[in-house]
Amino acid sequence: MPDNTFPNVAIVGAGTMGHGIAQVCAMAGMEVRLFDLSDDALQRGLDHVHANLDKGVSRGKVSEDLRDETLMRLAGSTVLETAVDGADLVIEAVPEVLSLKQELFATIEPLVDEGTVFGTNTSSLSVGAIAGAMSRPEVVVGLHFFNPVHIMKLLEVVTHPTTADDAVDRIQTFGKEIGKDCIYVKDFPGFATSRLGVCLGMEAIRMVEQGVASAEDIDTAMVLGYRHPVGPLKLTDMVGLDVRLHIGEYLARELNNSAFEPPQLMREMVKDGRLGKKAGRGFYDWE
Ligand code: NAD
Repeated sequence: MPDNTFPNVAIVGAGTMGHGIAQVCAMAGMEVRLFDLSDDALQRGLDHVHANLDKGVSRGKVSEDLRDETLMRLAGSTVLETAVDGADLVIEAVPEVLSLKQELFATIEPLVDEGTVFGTNTSSLSVGAIAGAMSRPEVVVGLHFFNPVHIMKLLEVVTHPTTADDAVDRIQTFGKEIGKDCIYVKDFPGFATSRLGVCLGMEAIRMVEQGVASAEDIDTAMVLGYRHPVGPLKLTDMVGLDVRLHIGEYLARELNNSAFEPPQLMREMVKDGRLGKKAGRGFYDWE
């Protein structure tokens, strides 16, 4: 395996995204430490990686050797100092709360070398604002992965006005090493992906609200008429209505554009707990 740009990577947050990011980095030959606050959350993340790799082996997509080597390169810790010790790249995948991400990076910064690059997996927040709490904001880059991380090819790289060219160059190589196709986007609210995806999702919900067509038929319109792999309402169910509602409110405010304003129907569904796939019901019945 050739030398990697970032031989040692620390991933903070072992949830949906964090464990997937840890997996793709370890599969590419990097030594990875995964951190979460509790043993339970950490173990869940490690178990998911194990299960993904076993599934890959059973489907003939991952060799047994690669699975075993990947697992040997992946370690977990609930001690932040241990997890980030010696890291060349730190990636956070903690909940979408600005103050949480700011505090986390400011806490980690004095624990690592000056050359360490920081990646945030935020799906909508300002990368510059997250970097703003650090004394070296130039090392912070938005690294927006997609779910499930080991399958989705896209890595949306978000740069803020003071991001160092060297950090972007190294991330470009890192993207290749983990087998992703990178796009480069400036630090605008929602970047390229969330801005377009959420806009479409909100309009589709407004159409259900107005009785234009059923959720199924609106999704079929986009799948068969525009060759989208999944319709905007099913995708909203998969992401979570609560998650998209918060992003919609944020984008409506930041972009001063009512197209992102969550429709009343969405607010009522969130209030009723119809959050989508994770709750068993949303626009679709997932049970
Ligand atoms: P998640 O809730 O599945 O996981 C978050 C993890 O962070 C949990 O395991 C939690 O215990 C841990 N955590 C909470 N506070 C922490 C702290 N202070 N330090 C360390 N760990 C902490 O969330 P997720 O879906 O993985 O989302 C994480 C980030 O990725 C968010 O910014 C989200 O917007 C972004 N994102 C999510 C998706 C998606 O489809 N879920 C896609 C792209 C980006």
